[in-house]
Amino acid sequence: MSETPLLTAAALHKSFGDNHVLRGVDLEVRRGQVVALIGPSGSGKTTLLRSLNGLTAPDAGTLAFDGGPHVDFAADAGVRGRAARDARARTEAVRDRSAMVFQHHNLFPHRTVLQNVTEGPVQVQRVPLAQAQARGRELLARVGLADKADAYPRELSGGQQQRVGIVRALALQPDLLLFDEPTSSLDPELVGEVLSVMKELADDGWTMVVVTHELAFARAVADEVLFLDGGVVVEQGPPREMFTAPREERTRQFLHRIL
Ligand code: ADP
Repeated sequence: MSETPLLTAAALHKSFGDNHVLRGVDLEVRRGQVVALIGPSGSGKTTLLRSLNGLTAPDAGTLAFDGGPHVDFAADAGVRGRAARDARARTEAVRDRSAMVFQHHNLFPHRTVLQNVTEGPVQVQRVPLAQAQARGRELLARVGLADKADAYPRELSGGQQQRVGIVRALALQPDLLLFDEPTSSLDPELVGEVLSVMKELADDGWTMVVVTHELAFARAVADEVLFLDGGVVVEQGPPREMFTAPREERTRQFLHRIL
């Protein structure tokens, strides 16, 4: 276990006005690991997840991917001119290592499924269109949507749309997949198909950080669970320990309420 983590985040702080949402969060993710972030609503899970790929800019703390530049948010915020450009480049390099699957799939309604999937690789990564399309079709087939490539999002069920959202993230070939409550906007009968795609990705070795209320999923699929409350990690550990013998009273109360 001495291998360098894929992602190391340390001492992350974030406030919105006087709401101090992240209060010094550390997180390490090793390659191939699935990390689940659980905790009550408002505990800072989504803010933490978004901080990992720059959708939210923390006020302080550091972030680095294995072999990549190191971002120091507080130090970078104060710089000007060339140093600011260098800081932006470091932030972008970190951002490019991960891809986010959102709670709502955010697909472009007037583009086909395949166009939605190839948009990022072609526009942002300059992948040749034919190559992006071939890879997109392959990925769609992997999540059981080979026949939907030319459909429009409105022609799909919510679960199918969310699977396209997952493929769109995969198409960017990130090192790390970030999931922000990917099933919480779905009707209950559609949750299973999305969770099973996520389980297959985990089995395939994808590295994932998942904000979820699906504790059964976290228990079955995660290697490590972090319980957040009040902007701090109250407890972390393998799910079999956290769910059967939580060490902290706050964890116990949360699990008791939910299970
Ligand atoms: P969780 O994912 O655990 O429910 P969030 O990270 O979404 O928690 O939110 C934590 C707190 O931060 C909440 O009080 C929320 O209102 C606040 N918050 C989150 N995003 C913003 C934002 N963009 N602007 C202002 N407040 C925000």
